[in-house]
Amino acid sequence: MDATKIECPDCGGHKELAPQTEIGQLLNCADCGARLEVLSLSPLNIGHAPQIEEDFGE
Ligand SMILES: [Zn+2]
Repeated sequence: MDATKIECPDCGGHKELAPQTEIGQLLNCADCGARLEVLSLSPLNIGHAPQIEEDFGE
């Protein structure tokens, strides 16, 4: 099986993405604890999950 691999933008650690992963799904990096969000699947794009209590400064 070709499990999709993603790379944590914080620590660079790799983890596998479940086949049924959907856009907007939240993930936790097991290595650094970063909260990640699936931004798109094709191409695969992983970003930081929005932090509700933080000001993005936009
Ligand atoms: Zn990480």
